[in-house]
Amino acid sequence: MNNLYIEGGNNIDCLILKNKKCEITNYYSNNHSGIDLVGENYTIDSIICHSDGVIIEIQDGLTNKKGSTGIISYGNYLKIDHQNGYKTLYAHMGKGIPFKKGDKVKKGQVIGIMSDSGNAYGKHLHFEVSLNNKRVNPQEYINKEFSNNAVPILKYNIGDKVKIDGVYISSTSNEKLKPAVTEGKITKIIENARNPYLLNNGDIGWVNDESIISKIDNSSQVKYLSNINYTGFSIVDALNEINVDSSYLNRSKLASINDIQNYIGSSSQNEKMLNLLKQGKLKSV
Ligand SMILES: [Zn+2]
Repeated sequence: MNNLYIEGGNNIDCLILKNKKCEITNYYSNNHSGIDLVGENYTIDSIICHSDGVIIEIQDGLTNKKGSTGIISYGNYLKIDHQNGYKTLYAHMGKGIPFKKGDKVKKGQVIGIMSDSGNAYGKHLHFEVSLNNKRVNPQEYINKEFSNNAVPILKYNIGDKVKIDGVYISSTSNEKLKPAVTEGKITKIIENARNPYLLNNGDIGWVNDESIISKIDNSSQVKYLSNINYTGFSIVDALNEINVDSSYLNRSKLASINDIQNYIGSSSQNEKMLNLLKQGKLKSV
Protein backbone atom coordinates (compact mmCIF):
# COMPACT_ATOMS: atom_id res chain seq x y z
CA MET A 1 0.00 0.00 0.00
CA ASN A 2 2.95 2.30 0.00
CA ASN A 3 5.91 2.58 -2.28
CA LEU A 4 5.53 2.60 -6.00
CA TYR A 5 8.47 0.53 -7.15
CA ILE A 6 9.11 0.33 -10.83
CA GLU A 7 10.16 -3.28 -11.04
CA GLY A 8 7.33 -5.44 -12.13
CA GLY A 9 5.89 -7.37 -14.98
CA ASN A 10 4.75 -5.50 -18.00
CA ASN A 11 1.56 -5.41 -19.96
CA ILE A 12 -0.10 -8.22 -18.09
CA ASP A 13 -3.71 -9.05 -18.96
CA CYS A 14 -5.81 -7.52 -16.25
CA LEU A 15 -9.44 -7.98 -15.19
CA ILE A 16 -9.45 -5.05 -12.80
CA LEU A 17 -8.40 -2.15 -15.00
CA LYS A 18 -10.54 -0.59 -17.69
CA ASN A 19 -7.93 -0.93 -20.43
CA LYS A 20 -7.40 -4.61 -19.48
CA LYS A 21 -3.61 -4.34 -19.20
CA CYS A 22 -1.42 -3.55 -16.23
CA GLU A 23 2.10 -3.32 -14.90
CA ILE A 24 2.94 -4.72 -11.48
CA THR A 25 4.92 -2.20 -9.47
CA ASN A 26 5.06 -3.96 -6.12
CA TYR A 27 4.44 -7.62 -5.38
CA TYR A 28 2.63 -9.33 -2.53
CA SER A 29 4.95 -10.26 0.37
CA ASN A 30 5.07 -10.55 4.15
CA ASN A 31 5.47 -6.80 4.24
CA HIS A 32 2.89 -5.99 1.60
CA SER A 33 -0.69 -7.21 1.96
CA GLY A 34 -1.61 -6.73 -1.69
CA ILE A 35 -0.21 -6.10 -5.10
CA ASP A 36 0.38 -2.67 -6.62
CA LEU A 37 -0.61 -1.99 -10.19
CA VAL A 38 -0.62 0.79 -12.72
CA GLY A 39 -2.01 0.81 -16.22
CA GLU A 40 -0.19 -0.28 -19.35
CA ASN A 41 3.00 1.72 -19.91
CA TYR A 42 2.69 3.17 -16.40
CA THR A 43 -0.49 5.06 -17.05
CA ILE A 44 -3.38 5.86 -14.74
CA ASP A 45 -6.47 3.79 -15.41
CA SER A 46 -10.00 3.32 -14.10
CA ILE A 47 -10.54 0.44 -11.69
CA ILE A 48 -12.94 -2.36 -12.58
CA CYS A 49 -14.78 -4.69 -10.23
CA HIS A 50 -13.24 -8.18 -10.42
CA SER A 51 -16.50 -10.12 -9.95
CA ASP A 52 -20.10 -9.58 -8.90
CA GLY A 53 -20.43 -8.73 -5.23
CA VAL A 54 -21.61 -6.44 -2.48
CA ILE A 55 -19.68 -3.51 -1.01
CA ILE A 56 -18.96 -4.24 2.63
CA GLU A 57 -16.45 -1.50 3.48
CA ILE A 58 -15.93 1.95 2.08
CA GLN A 59 -13.67 4.86 2.99
CA ASP A 60 -13.83 8.10 1.07
CA GLY A 61 -12.82 11.74 1.24
CA LEU A 62 -9.11 11.22 1.95
CA THR A 63 -6.10 12.80 0.26
CA ASN A 64 -2.47 11.71 0.14
CA LYS A 65 -0.96 11.00 3.55
CA LYS A 66 2.51 9.52 3.16
CA GLY A 67 3.70 7.51 6.13
CA SER A 68 0.19 6.92 7.49
CA THR A 69 -0.60 3.55 8.99
CA GLY A 70 -3.66 1.43 9.64
CA ILE A 71 -6.89 1.98 7.78
CA ILE A 72 -5.97 5.56 6.83
CA SER A 73 -3.01 4.22 4.83
CA TYR A 74 -5.46 2.63 2.38
CA GLY A 75 -6.79 6.07 1.49
CA ASN A 76 -10.09 5.89 -0.34
CA TYR A 77 -10.93 2.25 -0.72
CA LEU A 78 -13.67 -0.29 -1.31
CA LYS A 79 -13.96 -3.81 -0.04
CA ILE A 80 -16.25 -6.17 -1.91
CA ASP A 81 -17.65 -9.48 -0.75
CA HIS A 82 -18.10 -11.79 -3.72
CA GLN A 83 -20.16 -14.16 -1.59
CA ASN A 84 -18.21 -17.22 -2.63
CA GLY A 85 -15.54 -16.99 0.06
CA TYR A 86 -13.56 -14.34 -1.82
CA LYS A 87 -13.32 -10.66 -0.97
CA THR A 88 -11.39 -8.00 -2.86
CA LEU A 89 -10.06 -4.63 -1.74
CA TYR A 90 -9.12 -1.68 -3.95
CA ALA A 91 -7.09 1.07 -2.26
CA HIS A 92 -5.64 4.54 -2.95
CA MET A 93 -8.58 5.51 -5.16
CA GLY A 94 -9.59 9.03 -6.04
CA LYS A 95 -12.15 10.84 -3.88
CA GLY A 96 -15.86 10.64 -4.60
CA ILE A 97 -16.53 6.92 -4.75
CA PRO A 98 -20.10 6.73 -6.04
CA PHE A 99 -21.24 3.87 -3.81
CA LYS A 100 -22.38 3.15 -0.30
CA LYS A 101 -22.05 0.13 1.93
CA GLY A 102 -24.45 -2.58 0.82
CA ASP A 103 -24.49 -1.56 -2.84
CA LYS A 104 -24.30 -4.38 -5.32
CA VAL A 105 -21.60 -4.19 -7.96
CA LYS A 106 -21.12 -6.13 -11.14
CA LYS A 107 -18.10 -7.75 -12.70
CA GLY A 108 -16.54 -5.29 -15.13
CA GLN A 109 -18.21 -2.24 -13.61
CA VAL A 110 -16.01 0.85 -13.09
CA ILE A 111 -15.71 1.37 -9.34
CA GLY A 112 -13.13 4.15 -9.15
CA ILE A 113 -9.98 5.72 -10.50
CA MET A 114 -6.37 5.16 -9.43
CA SER A 115 -4.97 7.85 -7.22
CA ASP A 116 -2.54 8.33 -4.36
CA SER A 117 -4.86 8.76 -1.39
CA GLY A 118 -3.53 7.40 1.91
CA ASN A 119 0.04 6.15 2.20
CA ALA A 120 1.04 6.20 -1.46
CA TYR A 121 4.12 7.45 -3.26
CA GLY A 122 2.56 7.77 -6.66
CA LYS A 123 -0.81 7.03 -8.21
CA HIS A 124 -1.55 3.32 -8.36
CA LEU A 125 -4.02 0.64 -7.34
CA HIS A 126 -3.32 -1.51 -4.31
CA PHE A 127 -5.33 -4.70 -4.77
CA GLU A 128 -5.94 -7.35 -2.11
CA VAL A 129 -7.73 -10.68 -2.22
CA SER A 130 -8.85 -12.79 0.72
CA LEU A 131 -10.30 -16.27 0.75
CA ASN A 132 -12.29 -17.29 3.81
CA ASN A 133 -11.02 -14.17 5.57
CA LYS A 134 -7.36 -15.05 5.00
CA ARG A 135 -5.31 -12.90 2.66
CA VAL A 136 -4.00 -14.70 -0.38
CA ASN A 137 -1.56 -13.66 -3.08
CA PRO A 138 -3.68 -11.54 -5.41
CA GLN A 139 -1.33 -11.89 -8.36
CA GLU A 140 -2.99 -14.89 -9.97
CA TYR A 141 -6.39 -13.21 -9.77
CA ILE A 142 -5.33 -10.15 -11.74
CA ASN A 143 -6.32 -12.05 -14.85
CA LYS A 144 -8.19 -15.03 -13.46
CA GLU A 145 -11.74 -15.60 -12.26
CA PHE A 146 -12.38 -16.88 -8.77
CA SER A 147 -13.09 -20.53 -8.44
CA ASN A 148 -16.82 -20.95 -7.97
CA ASN A 149 -16.58 -23.91 -5.70
CA ALA A 150 -13.95 -22.56 -3.33
CA VAL A 151 -16.53 -22.48 -0.58
CA PRO A 152 -19.89 -24.14 -0.63
CA ILE A 153 -22.38 -21.39 -0.11
CA LEU A 154 -25.40 -22.47 1.83
CA LYS A 155 -28.51 -20.48 1.36
CA TYR A 156 -31.08 -20.19 4.07
CA ASN A 157 -34.47 -18.72 4.57
CA ILE A 158 -36.05 -17.55 7.77
CA GLY A 159 -37.89 -20.51 9.23
CA ASP A 160 -35.49 -23.13 7.84
CA LYS A 161 -34.60 -25.81 10.32
CA VAL A 162 -30.85 -26.25 10.55
CA LYS A 163 -28.29 -28.26 12.44
CA ILE A 164 -24.83 -26.98 13.36
CA ASP A 165 -21.80 -29.08 14.00
CA GLY A 166 -18.84 -27.17 15.35
CA VAL A 167 -18.16 -23.99 17.19
CA TYR A 168 -19.99 -20.71 17.14
CA ILE A 169 -19.08 -17.21 18.18
CA SER A 170 -21.35 -15.63 20.70
CA SER A 171 -23.08 -12.41 19.81
CA THR A 172 -21.42 -10.65 22.73
CA SER A 173 -17.80 -11.82 22.45
CA ASN A 174 -15.35 -13.36 20.04
CA GLU A 175 -14.95 -16.41 22.21
CA LYS A 176 -15.44 -19.66 20.39
CA LEU A 177 -17.99 -21.82 22.11
CA LYS A 178 -19.39 -25.27 21.75
CA PRO A 179 -23.03 -24.81 21.01
CA ALA A 180 -25.36 -26.14 23.68
CA VAL A 181 -28.14 -26.19 21.17
CA THR A 182 -27.23 -27.64 17.81
CA GLU A 183 -30.57 -27.54 16.09
CA GLY A 184 -32.84 -24.64 15.57
CA LYS A 185 -34.77 -22.48 13.23
CA ILE A 186 -33.23 -19.58 11.37
CA THR A 187 -34.62 -16.47 13.00
CA LYS A 188 -32.58 -13.81 11.26
CA ILE A 189 -30.55 -13.49 8.08
CA ILE A 190 -27.73 -10.98 8.18
CA GLU A 191 -27.12 -9.31 4.87
CA ASN A 192 -23.66 -10.17 3.52
CA ALA A 193 -22.82 -12.47 6.41
CA ARG A 194 -22.05 -15.98 5.46
CA ASN A 195 -23.99 -17.64 8.22
CA PRO A 196 -27.25 -16.67 9.79
CA TYR A 197 -28.39 -16.51 13.35
CA LEU A 198 -29.88 -19.58 14.90
CA LEU A 199 -32.51 -19.91 17.51
CA ASN A 200 -31.29 -20.91 20.94
CA ASN A 201 -33.86 -19.76 23.43
CA GLY A 202 -33.49 -16.47 21.62
CA ASP A 203 -29.80 -16.31 22.51
CA ILE A 204 -27.25 -17.74 20.15
CA GLY A 205 -24.61 -15.98 18.12
CA TRP A 206 -23.74 -16.47 14.53
CA VAL A 207 -22.10 -19.64 13.42
CA ASN A 208 -18.56 -19.05 12.29
CA ASP A 209 -16.79 -20.45 9.28
CA GLU A 210 -15.35 -23.40 11.17
CA SER A 211 -18.80 -24.78 11.74
CA ILE A 212 -20.72 -26.94 9.44
CA ILE A 213 -24.28 -25.91 9.14
CA SER A 214 -26.77 -28.02 7.33
CA LYS A 215 -30.36 -27.67 6.49
CA ILE A 216 -32.65 -30.27 7.96
CA ASP A 217 -34.95 -31.54 5.30
CA ASN A 218 -38.46 -31.37 6.66
CA SER A 219 -39.34 -34.62 4.96
CA SER A 220 -36.79 -36.39 7.15
CA GLN A 221 -38.72 -35.16 10.17
CA VAL A 222 -41.56 -37.55 9.38
CA LYS A 223 -42.01 -40.15 12.09
CA TYR A 224 -42.43 -43.76 11.12
CA LEU A 225 -44.23 -46.55 12.89
CA SER A 226 -42.38 -49.80 13.16
CA ASN A 227 -43.09 -53.31 14.37
CA ILE A 228 -40.34 -55.34 12.77
CA ASN A 229 -40.70 -58.21 15.25
CA TYR A 230 -44.32 -58.93 14.32
CA THR A 231 -44.73 -62.23 12.51
CA GLY A 232 -48.53 -62.44 12.26
CA PHE A 233 -50.91 -61.28 9.56
CA SER A 234 -53.18 -58.75 11.29
CA ILE A 235 -52.57 -55.02 10.98
CA VAL A 236 -54.88 -54.52 13.95
CA ASP A 237 -52.82 -56.84 16.18
CA ALA A 238 -49.55 -55.40 14.91
CA LEU A 239 -50.68 -51.84 15.71
CA ASN A 240 -52.06 -52.92 19.11
CA GLU A 241 -48.71 -54.47 19.99
CA ILE A 242 -46.99 -51.09 19.62
CA ASN A 243 -49.83 -49.23 21.35
CA VAL A 244 -51.07 -47.46 18.26
CA ASP A 245 -54.78 -46.83 17.78
CA SER A 246 -55.93 -49.64 15.47
CA SER A 247 -59.46 -48.36 14.92
CA TYR A 248 -60.87 -48.18 11.41
CA LEU A 249 -60.77 -44.41 11.57
CA ASN A 250 -57.11 -44.31 12.49
CA ARG A 251 -56.23 -46.96 9.92
CA SER A 252 -58.00 -44.80 7.32
CA LYS A 253 -55.81 -41.85 8.29
CA LEU A 254 -52.68 -44.01 8.14
CA ALA A 255 -53.76 -45.32 4.72
CA SER A 256 -54.23 -41.84 3.28
CA ILE A 257 -50.77 -40.58 4.31
CA ASN A 258 -49.10 -43.81 3.14
CA ASP A 259 -50.50 -43.66 -0.38
CA ILE A 260 -53.00 -46.44 0.15
CA GLN A 261 -55.91 -45.04 -1.83
CA ASN A 262 -59.64 -45.27 -1.00
CA TYR A 263 -59.16 -47.31 2.14
CA ILE A 264 -62.06 -49.64 2.87
CA GLY A 265 -60.15 -52.10 5.09
CA SER A 266 -59.72 -54.66 2.31
CA SER A 267 -57.23 -57.47 2.90
CA SER A 268 -54.86 -56.21 0.20
CA GLN A 269 -54.90 -52.69 1.70
CA ASN A 270 -54.31 -54.07 5.21
CA GLU A 271 -51.51 -56.28 3.92
CA LYS A 272 -49.83 -53.29 2.28
CA MET A 273 -50.08 -51.32 5.53
CA LEU A 274 -48.75 -54.25 7.53
CA ASN A 275 -45.77 -54.69 5.21
CA LEU A 276 -44.86 -51.04 5.68
CA LEU A 277 -45.16 -51.43 9.45
CA LYS A 278 -42.95 -54.55 9.44
CA GLN A 279 -40.31 -52.62 7.51
CA GLY A 280 -40.54 -49.64 9.87
CA LYS A 281 -41.74 -47.48 6.99
CA LEU A 282 -45.33 -46.73 7.95
CA LYS A 283 -45.64 -42.96 8.21
CA SER A 284 -47.19 -41.88 11.48
CA VAL A 285 -50.28 -39.66 11.60
ZN1 LIG B 1 0.29 -1.63 -1.97
